[in-house]
Amino acid sequence: MPAITSGKVLVSGANGFIAVWVVRSLLEQGYSVRGTVRSADKGKHLKEVFASYGEKFEVVEVPDITVEGAFDEAVKGVDAIEHTASPFHFKAEDPAELLEPAVKGTVGILESARKHGTSVKRVIITSSVAAVLSVPSTPQVFTEADWNDQAVKEVEEKGREASNAAKYRASKTLAERAAWDFHSKHKAEVAWDVVALNPPMVFGPIIHEVSSPHAQNTSSQTMYDVFTKEGSTVGSGSWVDVRDIALAHVLGLQKEEAGGERIIISAGAFSFQDLLDAASSSSKHLKGTPGAGKDAVHQIRFNADKSVRLLELKYHTMAETVADTLEDWEKKGW
Ligand code: NDP
Repeated sequence: MPAITSGKVLVSGANGFIAVWVVRSLLEQGYSVRGTVRSADKGKHLKEVFASYGEKFEVVEVPDITVEGAFDEAVKGVDAIEHTASPFHFKAEDPAELLEPAVKGTVGILESARKHGTSVKRVIITSSVAAVLSVPSTPQVFTEADWNDQAVKEVEEKGREASNAAKYRASKTLAERAAWDFHSKHKAEVAWDVVALNPPMVFGPIIHEVSSPHAQNTSSQTMYDVFTKEGSTVGSGSWVDVRDIALAHVLGLQKEEAGGERIIISAGAFSFQDLLDAASSSSKHLKGTPGAGKDAVHQIRFNADKSVRLLELKYHTMAETVADTLEDWEKKGW
């Protein structure tokens, strides 16, 4: 597929934490953007944020992404699709709450692109390292060759009794697999390829509409808790700045060689304490036990070499991300 360096891009779930940065990065690089939201009121803030782009930014309503043909109109006339809309939380009782919109939303947008996306050249799926990792018994470095079949098996076997993490991880694994399967089945009929981006926990300043700290998206809430809630500093994972995963969504269109690839987008492994240690010493927030995360042995790490090789992505440092996020909270009066 040729690199897509101009034209119109459809971004699903455009009012989400990551998606709004994807929209901003696309507009800044000259693309036009059509964003989908579930209801008109969710588009108002977006129109205000991107008012200076005039007609280059439009919002359309897709009330239910699980309905057949939901994206049929939205895909018409776009050159590429960035599919980010999917639930990300750890509160589902019934796994179907996560699995249905994740899988049906993904297959649905691809089916709409197959039938009506005559100018589409590439579809980028916002997947996750949740679709890559499995919980190892000894420390492991995961690559794009790995798939999280463990979470899918747990959900198949335990249903509602599966862990909340497994329910979310299964939704991302099944959705991403469905995307690759769909493309492999229909590649002779479509003029587009697929890219999957697999980020870990995403942190950074918030430019979508959030009424209070407790209304934040899941990963931002995790970071906020670490800084503000006693007892939330024990934990670890891998992370990436929201501006880097957003830029990866643009570079994924521009780099021809990204077609057909899964790409882990990760700045590295960290302990929650590292976030606190990366803050300026004048920060008014919790300090935890400085240095306590430094020598942690991380059970799960990700190899993100492909993101540097194929996308030439440069990552923010944790100090930059933390400083910009704390400044954003300050501005919001949090
Ligand atoms: P947000 O919760 O901020 O945004 C999620 C978006 O998906 C919103 O537009 C939301 O719409 C939409 N959405 C959620 N549930 C449904 C549903 N049932 N039907 C239709 N639309 C729905 O999350 P993020 O920005 O953090 O996540 C965006 C994507 O990135 C997701 O696919 C997530 O799995 C993935 N991801 C996120 C990571 C992170 O750390 N944040 C890490 C790895 C992957 P509405 O506002 O109407 O609910």
